Amino acid sequence: MTHKNFVSKSTKIVATLGPASSNAETLETLIREGLNVARINFSHGSHEVHGQTIETVRRVDVSLGTYTAILADLQGPKLRVGDIDGGEMPLVAGENLVVRVGEGVGKDGVVYTDYVSFAKDVTPGERVLMDDGKLCLRVLSTNGIDAVECEVIHGGPLRPRKGLNLPETKVSLPCITDKDAADLAFALSKDVDWIGLSFVRQASDILELKAQIAAAGKHAKVVAKIEKPEAIEDLEAILEATDAVMVARGDLGVEMPMQQVPLLQKEIVRKCMEKGRPVIVATQMLESMIESPTPTRAEVNDVANAVLDGADAVMLSGETSVGKYPVEAVAAMRKVIENIEEQGEVEYPERPPLHPDDERFISDSVCYNACRLARRVHAAAIVTMTFSGYTAIQVSSMRPKAKIFMFTANQRVLCQMSLVWGVYAVPYNKMVSTDHTISDIKSMLKQGGRVQDGDFVIHLASMPIADAGMTNMLKLSRV
Ligand code: PEP
Repeated sequence: MTHKNFVSKSTKIVATLGPASSNAETLETLIREGLNVARINFSHGSHEVHGQTIETVRRVDVSLGTYTAILADLQGPKLRVGDIDGGEMPLVAGENLVVRVGEGVGKDGVVYTDYVSFAKDVTPGERVLMDDGKLCLRVLSTNGIDAVECEVIHGGPLRPRKGLNLPETKVSLPCITDKDAADLAFALSKDVDWIGLSFVRQASDILELKAQIAAAGKHAKVVAKIEKPEAIEDLEAILEATDAVMVARGDLGVEMPMQQVPLLQKEIVRKCMEKGRPVIVATQMLESMIESPTPTRAEVNDVANAVLDGADAVMLSGETSVGKYPVEAVAAMRKVIENIEEQGEVEYPERPPLHPDDERFISDSVCYNACRLARRVHAAAIVTMTFSGYTAIQVSSMRPKAKIFMFTANQRVLCQMSLVWGVYAVPYNKMVSTDHTISDIKSMLKQGGRVQDGDFVIHLASMPIADAGMTNMLKLSRV
């Protein structure tokens, strides 16, 4: 088999690459430890550096025989304060602060933001949060042009370029900013596999991004980052529009009361499984490992619970991009995943396809019944032959105990599938006849040690096989 995987867990690991991890040697170790998706965060760093990182991932993949997915994460309309004189300004509860629109350096009770419509968008009484919600202000008045007077509610030191969140304001900035458009063009020119969009507010944000990807003639798939209350309100339509989702708990826990995030995580993951959309749980999963070689017990529990919720992937941010222990962080995550998958049980969403008029009714029914049959006979493997990856994602969304193998002639989806729970994708283009392909793949799986004599294997394919149509056939056989 031409796809090497060093670790056979089902839940995938996304790691953000940065100065601590983007060299070839560290990257190779991370992949051997269980990394499946390399995330490039366009909120930081230059195109030159990101380009080198992408090339390194592809080079290491070729040398290892792996298919690591690359996720380019666009910053979106992230709001920030500007520079601050002396590097810090103390905000004191009860005192006033003026937030001005422009490029100035903050001092003497005035800070700046480059969010041009700030004074137009806010109204008195709304909250203004800074530095991940550590600082809280309330709008007293706005001149509607370029100055907003606020009262400090919770104070503390304000440092330059810290984030600004407006959970109660309708932010009028476009979802894809000028910076995002330039970053998107760059990422697409490097043929990345997934594009993440931050601060998604509605389904049309995703459709706009997809239109731009299609206009560039590229095939990257889209991850909608859920971190705004508006996105929660429009979740069903966003799930319909997007290819995958990220529960971006960092900003979500600032934009919404943070005690709501645990249940929101469970709800989003469940809805993603029902809809067949891969879902990543992100942020602060092993945060203490930025400085420490071992995680806290609470962090271990957090990763374990995300796996039990049914996440396709769990994500590392600063832990691997700038932390002191990137390899230890991926290894710790892998060990937690392996233990939970061995001993725990992901809840299976029983979800028979309901609508016979649906375009995908036949293939969805075949996938659904393949998973039921796999449970009934304790099948070792479900093998899909798919061009788009659709069947593999459908099967995966039902979280079967059987291993999921996806054989495809479509080189483009091999890396994409590294984000999807349990899917192991293999390049294959010998579509001679259904019988020949099934027996050929079975012997490949046996030779690769993936199945043993006597194991039940379920094959999904479309007949006639040469037409590469939608899956319409299920075969149960024994090795
Ligand atoms: C988050 O807010 O949880 C998140 C993943 O976003 P960022 O791109 O800021 O890391």
